[in-house]
Amino acid sequence: MDLAKLPVEPPKRRRIGVLTSGGDAPGMNGAVRAVVRMAIHCDCEAYAVFEGYEGLVNGGNMIRQVHWEDVRGWLSRGGTLIGSARSMAFRERAGRMRAAKNMVLRGIDALVVCGGDGSLTGADVFRAEWPSLLSDLIAAGELTTEQVEPYKVLNIVGLVGSIDNDMSGTDATIGCYSSLTRICDAVDDVFDTAFSHQRGFVIEVMGRHCGWLALMSAISTGADWLFIPEIPPRDGWEDDMCSMITKVGSIGQLNRKERGKRRTIVIVAEGAQDRQLNKISSSTVKDILTQRLGLDTRTTVLGHTQRGGPACAYDRWLSTLQGVEAVRAVLEMTPQSPSPVITIRENKIMRTPLMEAVQATKDVASKIHAKDFAAAMTLRDPEFKEYHRAYLNTATPEHPKMLLPEGKVCPKPTNSLGSPGTYFSQRMRIAIIHVGAPAGGMNQATRAAVAYCLTRGHTALAIHNGFPGLCRHHADKPISSVREVQWLESDSWVNEGGSDIGTNRSLPSEDIETTAECFELYKFDALFVVGGFEAFTAVSQLRQAREKYDAFKIPLIVLPATISNNVPGTEYSLGSDTCLNTLIEFCDAIRQSASSSRRRVFVIETQGGKSGYIATTAGLAVGAVAVYIPEEGIDIKMLSRDIDLLRDNFIRDKGANRAGKIILRNECASGTYTTQVIADMIKEEAKGRFESRAAVPGHFQQGSKPSPMDRVRALRMAIRCMQHIEGYAGKTPEAVAADPLSASVIAIKGSQVLFSPMGGDSGLEATETDWTRRRPKSEFWLELQHVVNVLSGRSAVGTNESWSCYEST
Ligand code: ADP
Repeated sequence: MDLAKLPVEPPKRRRIGVLTSGGDAPGMNGAVRAVVRMAIHCDCEAYAVFEGYEGLVNGGNMIRQVHWEDVRGWLSRGGTLIGSARSMAFRERAGRMRAAKNMVLRGIDALVVCGGDGSLTGADVFRAEWPSLLSDLIAAGELTTEQVEPYKVLNIVGLVGSIDNDMSGTDATIGCYSSLTRICDAVDDVFDTAFSHQRGFVIEVMGRHCGWLALMSAISTGADWLFIPEIPPRDGWEDDMCSMITKVGSIGQLNRKERGKRRTIVIVAEGAQDRQLNKISSSTVKDILTQRLGLDTRTTVLGHTQRGGPACAYDRWLSTLQGVEAVRAVLEMTPQSPSPVITIRENKIMRTPLMEAVQATKDVASKIHAKDFAAAMTLRDPEFKEYHRAYLNTATPEHPKMLLPEGKVCPKPTNSLGSPGTYFSQRMRIAIIHVGAPAGGMNQATRAAVAYCLTRGHTALAIHNGFPGLCRHHADKPISSVREVQWLESDSWVNEGGSDIGTNRSLPSEDIETTAECFELYKFDALFVVGGFEAFTAVSQLRQAREKYDAFKIPLIVLPATISNNVPGTEYSLGSDTCLNTLIEFCDAIRQSASSSRRRVFVIETQGGKSGYIATTAGLAVGAVAVYIPEEGIDIKMLSRDIDLLRDNFIRDKGANRAGKIILRNECASGTYTTQVIADMIKEEAKGRFESRAAVPGHFQQGSKPSPMDRVRALRMAIRCMQHIEGYAGKTPEAVAADPLSASVIAIKGSQVLFSPMGGDSGLEATETDWTRRRPKSEFWLELQHVVNVLSGRSAVGTNESWSCYEST
């Protein structure tokens, strides 16, 4: 080797490498795209390492500089376009020495690794050994002291790409929700045939050490029984499962007639086992159901379909934001800082020490291996445990242990309960109402609330067709609009979109008197309101009317559900994820339709009222060139700059990227610059160099079946609401009214799920609500607009900032 030919001078710009390793997962391409573009935006150069660590060890053409245009269109592509491989060579020190040399020769001293715990362990080992690898390379004469001098410190940042969601310390890994979507699509399809033939289906899903996919698919599809590695069933599970399925399932003529449930679904994780660590396979479960119950049962093993396909909206969002955060972390790291892994808690992107997360993940596996299942569960994330409990609450709605006693005697004097010695019932009459436009997840939230009520002995009362339904039927009494819901009716809502009990935009203020009468007539002890801004407004009105009507001095709890995601106090509303998925499918399809012409821009109009959330998040997920939102408005300069950007884009990719380009415009972004006007202006200004079209998906955006994320969050949040409501059992109306949290919104805020009070000086109504524009005063997602602009290159138009980074390439 001729050392003299090797570079000594460090490159002018910092060089950041990115690789994907281990099992591939949808969303990995989104992460690579974000790392590449963010790196370029931050005046660094981006290098892709092909075929994971194998490429790092082999070097040559497997480590290549990537440019802005190279990653165009990657967000919607499945798998990993830079390849992934298991590398035996990198497990050996000799292999890592070659990898270190390859990096130094290319001037790369920072690596973003997207993979599972194995890949991240490898990355950490590499960083720990880095100084000694460099010394050994010098000692062996492979590199000179001068050459290694600028690269004494290696920065590593981890991104977790895995469909299993098996990494501790993060709620979700890149790919897990896409995989869950594939599974739910498959199980939803099986529903119909299971129903037609009254069949049982045993469905095996991936997850050797982690039951996340199995648990979430069981929740999303209302499976009757679930097997996961972390919580093996107690001995004698065969009898338990059969008796449970007989009880709630389709077995036996009597049950069939009485209960009418015609399908039985059992989900088995690949790594399911009993308490002695004997494997529980899908075929074993099938044989038991067939032989013991005479149930016509089929097995479906969902293989690699679970890995494939494009990433869902959430994975595109997650991979993009985490990729951006990874580059920030690289640039902020010091030699002393431990390598971070980018994680997410609820809605907040965070950094966690990489080895702590890896160690906790490994500990779970070793606890399971040692049959210490309780310890394994404590090491799992709290969210996982909560979901598991929630699943049990709803899968077995007649569990005797969960049932509350009929009544209880008031304890010693207190202000909040009735007078001491009074007998009060802990079981409540809980009314459920949908308010506003339909949104994915409304039915699932209602189903979960009903199941929880039945489990606890409460009475679940569905109010049909919102507040007008309540008042109208009360007035003429043809049929009651308030009906007690039974399990079987609500069970079928598990994967249905829209609102089965009916939803309505009208508010209680339209007839507050009758509303109060109805509350008294039906003896509501609590009201659970599922809906969007109208639901929020309705509860605000009821709360304010408490002064006049005692009937409203009961817990009034809002579970936000609206595609617009504009409910004050929360960062997430049910239905918004379903809407985003529908919208990105629409955008992907329409963009592809341009592949023959190659030069087309689509201006797509999104719903969302005066909130630009959907437009911005969809823009992030489809890689829009620009997003127009009401919060910013549209002006002529903006349009002119964006047309320049488009012109530049088309010159740069020279038609190499066949798909069309997307601009998203929220329906209320401007009264003058309508979607059609913008499309026409672009066409005019393009002077024949490219075309443009307007497209309005309209109500299509509400989606058909709710996304798995909306389904699982509906369950978890509805159960939290029920538990919150239970806290008011037996309290006097005055005590209820005096508690600000008795009229509240369940909210996801940053990394927390909490209840935010509506009233009071610091309540949502006074501090966080922009009543005129029907949206929160400060919108957490506004900063995402900047990320969309950075990744489209739009942020730099006019300043030449981003061009300067890659003009020479
Ligand atoms: P995953 O990242 O999905 O857990 P693996 O466990 O197969 O997948 O790891 C992927 C690659 O990471 C391996 O092929 C190997 O190259 C590297 N790797 C894993 N563990 C180590 C380790 N302890 N030391 C060095 N490299 C490792």
